Amino acid sequence: MKASSDAGLCAGCLHGRSIDSARGSRFWLCGRAASDGRYPKYPRLPMLQCPGFAPANAASG
Ligand code: SF4
Repeated sequence: MKASSDAGLCAGCLHGRSIDSARGSRFWLCGRAASDGRYPKYPRLPMLQCPGFAPANAASG
């Protein structure tokens, strides 16, 4: 099993959703892609820099 940190920023991003495939691999879905075409629906990982990154736990402190 891989650590989610392999995904880079997406793993800790408010907009990121992890998807576990039937083959056992994990990929990430970018929630921003639906409303903003600048973001890929399935970001290439690890994401090291992203202008749309928002910390997932910032709001729930
Ligand atoms: S906004 Fe950027 S960091 Fe956040 S899930 Fe999308 S691609 Fe990943």
